[in-house]
Amino acid sequence: MSIDVSLAKRNEGVQYPFEENLSLGTIPYEMGDIHTIGETAVEGIAMGADGKILLNGSIVVLLSQVCDRCAEPFEREYRFDFSELFTDGQPEEDSDDYPFQSERIDLEKMVQDCIVLQLPAVNLCMETCRGLCPVCGINRNHANCNCNIEISGPFGVLAGLMDRVKEDE
Ligand SMILES: [Zn+2]
Ligand SMILES: [Zn+2]
Repeated sequence: MSIDVSLAKRNEGVQYPFEENLSLGTIPYEMGDIHTIGETAVEGIAMGADGKILLNGSIVVLLSQVCDRCAEPFEREYRFDFSELFTDGQPEEDSDDYPFQSERIDLEKMVQDCIVLQLPAVNLCMETCRGLCPVCGINRNHANCNCNIEISGPFGVLAGLMDRVKEDE
């Protein structure tokens, strides 16, 4: 779960590639726990600079998610980039650096943050997901209903307003 940065620390300015697989499991998150599947691949370059270590790279993570529109579960692979500084010992108070001890950097916290911060706010099973019928609740990706959404749902009100706006123009 951690990488050896002793060489990067000793030879500042030299780039050392690294690769690591992490089993992250479930990441607790206030907007809803994030469920990773299998191992998350991390790769990048470690470089010493000004007594710190810079890690540049990317992660590939498979997530188990629930569609925000139709509530069906789905899996999706994401690739996120990172570029973070690590301070040996305790970072200064106003710094965003991650801490590390001695010669090894634990990637887990940084990778978790990377996923949490870059995951889209809205997650759909597919771009064209038709969602649930607001009247009868049927999943409109799988079946059709005869509900008159235009006059009974909140979207109907909105559509009516849009028509009025158009007429005024
Ligand atoms: Zn959906
Ligand atoms: Zn319906």
